Amino acid sequence: MTTLLSSFEARTGAVLDQVPASTPAAVDAACDAAAAAFAPWQAASGAERGALLRALAAALEGDRAELVALADRETALGPIRLNGELDRTAFQLRRFADLAERGEPFAFTDDPAVAGPPPAGHPLMQRWSVPLGPVAMFSASNFPFAFSVLGGDTASALAAGCPVVVKAHSGHLLLSNRVFGLVQGVLVALNLPAGLVSMVQGGGRDIGVRLVRHPAIAAGAFTGSTQGGAALAAEAAARPRPIPFFGELGSVNPVVALPAKLATDGAALAATLAGSITLGCGQFCTNPGVIVLIDELQPGLDTKAINDGFVAQLAEALRPQQPHAMLTTAMRGAFEAGVAHWAAAGAEMLVQDTAAAGQPPRPVLAQVSALDFIARSALREEVFGPSSLIVRAASLAQALQVLQAVGGSLTVTLWGVEQASDAARALVRGAMAIAGRVLFAGVPTGVAVTAAQQHGGPWPSSSRPESTSVGDAAMARFLRPVCLQDAPGWLSARAGQPV
Ligand code: NAP
Repeated sequence: MTTLLSSFEARTGAVLDQVPASTPAAVDAACDAAAAAFAPWQAASGAERGALLRALAAALEGDRAELVALADRETALGPIRLNGELDRTAFQLRRFADLAERGEPFAFTDDPAVAGPPPAGHPLMQRWSVPLGPVAMFSASNFPFAFSVLGGDTASALAAGCPVVVKAHSGHLLLSNRVFGLVQGVLVALNLPAGLVSMVQGGGRDIGVRLVRHPAIAAGAFTGSTQGGAALAAEAAARPRPIPFFGELGSVNPVVALPAKLATDGAALAATLAGSITLGCGQFCTNPGVIVLIDELQPGLDTKAINDGFVAQLAEALRPQQPHAMLTTAMRGAFEAGVAHWAAAGAEMLVQDTAAAGQPPRPVLAQVSALDFIARSALREEVFGPSSLIVRAASLAQALQVLQAVGGSLTVTLWGVEQASDAARALVRGAMAIAGRVLFAGVPTGVAVTAAQQHGGPWPSSSRPESTSVGDAAMARFLRPVCLQDAPGWLSARAGQPV
């Protein structure tokens, strides 16, 4: 009997349509097809990989109006954001096309033979890169284009030479099916195997677990909750042949604001921060969820008064914000439960208006002492939605302990370290110890797709802190080094190009 999955209108919760869940046999068939597509695709040239990625970008753009309208119904993210996200997704596909065409997946280290005895002498060595194999890719709820069927994980895996089996997110099933239809059309038009990109879908956990367990799957890529990512990473590690699992998980993105900065720029920073906290209804992995203020006395500064003033400015800037509906009713429930956990753990609720029935959530601002934040793990959990927790540290040392208690974050933002000092150095060290990206201006929302980007960090922000899921280096996740020693001339002359 076919199991049907429902797609929901995000703003009302009404059922939009239903799609059939993948059967276990269909998951296995998708993985087997990906395995069959691997051999020809890993042998594909940079130009061939680039041609596919460019055609996929053009297909997305060609159906923009219809795709954005559908995405808006399923996610409530609004056409401005969704058009921007589609632009970013096409940009990302073309950026990985550029990388493939420039030969980046085939970069190699040439180490000519050195005559003489070891350790200085050695044979001809070449260090090449080879693709891992089929990648199981879990789409994110909050980026229906950029971290979904044709998102950065798929683009970087294809550029690396890996087929992809997409697990569609249950929050945007119709869009995923529509985009997957475009992918199938492009594969046919380019005469490429259908198994190069497959898609599976299913409620519950069985489909995702079966996908990660399948012997043909060589790596996992995931964006979502810490809980879900941890469960799937454990599955990947428990296989008879364990595989790498690149999970981008939960992050609270601390913003540490020094009083001298707030004394001069407090009003503007409060307005910027309020916009960042409520952007996209707070449903960003880089949402600034923790704001650390340092009350330690400094010569010539009434630090506590400055910090109190900033908290009042931030509350004032947050109250009039009008977040839109959340992605799913389950996420709305999780947001409300998270805020309730803060209150139960003793947080002072500074902004917490009740939303009218059937209306989107209202912004939330709460405050705790650093000692409570460090002592109570419930206060350190990501609350996904338009909310932030102010943490009042009595000293610089306490602020550093707050960062250590966070442990791992996609970002840390430091406001007020423009001048070198012992305190600035300590904060930079503390931030770099826990974050993948450290910002010295602006807010953490907004993740540039570029060469130096690092979107990942120590646990719980990611399962693989040495990797990034955004930017050029994302492709390296799906490549593995192989050293060729004393390779025959015909092979070493290929200089890293597929054999
Ligand atoms: P999620 O629940 O982790 O789901 C992500 C994907 O993994 C979905 O395809 C889901 O399947 C699958 N999945 C989750 N747990 C699984 C398990 N134990 N076994 C097999 N498959 C599993 O994330 P979400 O739906 O995007 O959002 C839920 C919560 O995650 C949010 O409320 C928020 O707290 C957090 N979140 C964080 C980020 C971030 O970037 N940090 C982003 C999004 C969400 P189904 O689609 O079938 O459920």
